[in-house]
Amino acid sequence: EAEAPVATETPEPIGGRLARLRARLVKSNNVFGKSLLALLSQDEIDEDVWDEIEETLLMADLGTDPTMELVERLRERVKVEGSKDPARVKAMLREELIALIDPQLDRSLNTEAAGRPAVVMVVGVNGVGKTTTVGKLARVLVAQDKDVILGAADTFRAAAAEQLTTWGSRVGVPTVSSDVEGADPASVAFEAVAKGVELESDVVMVDTAGRLQNKANLMDELGKVKRVIEKKSEVDEVLLVLDATTGQNGLSQAKVFSEVVNVTGIVLTKLDGSARGGIVVAIQRQLGVPVKLIGLGEGPDDLAPFEAETFVDALMEE
Ligand code: GDP
Ligand code: GDP
Ligand code: MG
Repeated sequence: EAEAPVATETPEPIGGRLARLRARLVKSNNVFGKSLLALLSQDEIDEDVWDEIEETLLMADLGTDPTMELVERLRERVKVEGSKDPARVKAMLREELIALIDPQLDRSLNTEAAGRPAVVMVVGVNGVGKTTTVGKLARVLVAQDKDVILGAADTFRAAAAEQLTTWGSRVGVPTVSSDVEGADPASVAFEAVAKGVELESDVVMVDTAGRLQNKANLMDELGKVKRVIEKKSEVDEVLLVLDATTGQNGLSQAKVFSEVVNVTGIVLTKLDGSARGGIVVAIQRQLGVPVKLIGLGEGPDDLAPFEAETFVDALMEE
């Protein structure tokens, strides 16, 4: 059933969200930029200090290869430019961190399709914030004046459909779900997309059940959900939701999901918690997929498009 509910809330516009939520990021990640700057702002940077810089980056979850690359770049530049001028050192670090995050990557969400609704699938392990992200993203799209419909393809947990329906109804977005617990998630996903086509919606977003990447049958099931949707429509965006607080452990999950459903974007949630900012770099590198959105809290509008420069500025805040 997909009657459009009456909206009771007006979602916050999308512009400037990361700037608004910046304080949450600073709180969780200040370890990294600040201490790095202190280490780099010494007249003489000896080998012990370079080791400490390396250690700091590894502790920030940046990953081994990016850490080595960054240290190498900084060594070269310090050799040429020196480290006496604090403003110069800060600018140097900022530039190199931004380059590492790759400001060239296309982080836009693929939510425009000609003559049919765009289809977005949201996948990941249990508890990472998939349903919350679908709910928050529905609000973003509503704020952009798009007609949205949700598909509750997490049929495994009884409360999941209700959770999603609640998110949608707050902003007038209908949810397609099944009354039958344990219904085939692929068929619910298909129904949602079919309904979106019928209603001429702009975007259909399909929430899925959490699954561990090492459960072959559950990964097969996810592959099937996508294939069944594709009988009706192309899938324009597959968002993998990763919990930033799990750090490098998230990477092995990401690989398997990518193999099964061809992930097109990462949503990194819980960056307001104990997460370390370097994980953004590590994940993009390993997957070759851009981080498109970041979650910075449990509030309905605590989801922001990822912007490399604003992010690095927050990491370097003093
Ligand atoms: P799912 O199992 O992947 O669908 O996860 P849920 O969407 O149900 O979320 C699990 C928990 O994570 C909920 O308590 C959410 O409020 C919380 N959560 C999701 N995103 C964020 C975030 O960005 N920051 C914080 N602090 N909590 C989040
Ligand atoms: P175990 O707890 O490691 O023994 O594994 P389970 O088979 O109980 O499931 C682990 C997680 O996978 C659960 O928390 C469920 O969310 C999910 N899960 C288990 N079976 C299914 C299923 O048939 N479909 C879906 N979508 N998820 C499942
Ligand atoms: Mg869920």
